[in-house]
Amino acid sequence: MSTKEVLKNPNKELRKKSVDVLFEEIKTSEFQKLVDDMIETMAVENGVGLAAPQIGIHKRLIIVEDNGKVDAYINPEITKTSLRTVSSEEGCLSVPGVFGLVKRHKHIRLQAIDRHGNKIELKAGGLTSRAFQHEIDHLDGILFIDKAYKLIDEKEKNKLQEK
Ligand code: ZN
Repeated sequence: MSTKEVLKNPNKELRKKSVDVLFEEIKTSEFQKLVDDMIETMAVENGVGLAAPQIGIHKRLIIVEDNGKVDAYINPEITKTSLRTVSSEEGCLSVPGVFGLVKRHKHIRLQAIDRHGNKIELKAGGLTSRAFQHEIDHLDGILFIDKAYKLIDEKEKNKLQEK
């Protein structure tokens, strides 16, 4: 395993749309290594999610931590969203030092392929739902700063916390 450099905004690679992973590709050692490298990179960077385009690979592959369990989701698709939305603070490894309030669906239903090639379906709520929506946005070249309605930088945030 090796860690990869996480690209930072305004790197144009972050704005490209990613393509579906081919089913035959999933079991190759190159692809499995990519998954391992992303999991390691996310751990080192202290993230709760990472999308392949963040390391310059334009494939529909994301890593998300769900209740302490870190897994890869290939060709993820949100199949259902709750009408209810929640606003919460978000940050991104590709946009260091910036946080913002983003409105997301409270619950989602998701379909994807796991790293062994099995089709999976799951429901997510809370932080996990938010993480999936954030990471899937990366696959379409969307960053949270495009959706945030209030952005604050780290210095400002620290100041607020001191008060
Ligand atoms: Zn991100």
